[in-house]
Amino acid sequence: MHQLSAHTVRLLSSAQVVASVLNVVKELTENALDADATAIDVKLENFGLERIEVRDNGIGIRAEDAPVMGVRHFTSKISSHEDLETLQTYGFRGEALGSICAVAEVTVTTKTKDDDVSVQYSLDSSGNIVSQKPSHLGQGTTVSVQRLFRNLPVRRQLYSSSKKCREELRRIQEVLTAFAIVKPELRILIFGRFNSFSSNHSVHSRP
Ligand code: ADP
Ligand code: MG
Repeated sequence: MHQLSAHTVRLLSSAQVVASVLNVVKELTENALDADATAIDVKLENFGLERIEVRDNGIGIRAEDAPVMGVRHFTSKISSHEDLETLQTYGFRGEALGSICAVAEVTVTTKTKDDDVSVQYSLDSSGNIVSQKPSHLGQGTTVSVQRLFRNLPVRRQLYSSSKKCREELRRIQEVLTAFAIVKPELRILIFGRFNSFSSNHSVHSRP
């Protein structure tokens, strides 16, 4: 027997947390809701395999928090396990962004109400910031996830046929519709550019 390298352990455990396009969309949408977003746009390129982008108009991420946003087990939502008793958020493990970084290329563009301009951060596979530049986006956060599972052929295999991709898209629409039903004041839109067909779906919820 021998011990797996830290890199392999990280990749395997991240692939458990983030096992599908649906997982990524759900985690990013939950982060948007935890940030008090009232409008969320989800864009999928090639069923999300090429790119998943979730944009929100929530509170944004402060510059001092940005260096740890993608580092596993960093969260702004709880300080210790006692806080779980009064939990009001979807997320609290601080695992989603970091795990997504291990299995895809991630950029996060964000602006709080106190910032003059938004900043686009590029993260590496460990969730650390490798570069940053100013951006034109307004208040809120946009997470862009490119080339999901490029380093995990087993996971990519799940999307080997157009039928499987369409099934996943249907599940994504169901989950987003469920969020829209639970939060009537929320507007969620889903846009798609697909290889085999092209369409814009909208999941609206307005009182
Ligand atoms: P968790 O949601 O369990 O805290 P994540 O890895 O999903 O962990 O996110 C890490 C942290 O990054 C969050 O605690 C939050 O502070 C910040 N964050 C992530 N996405 C957003 C977003 N859309 N808007 C504001 N803050 C965000
Ligand atoms: Mg989260």
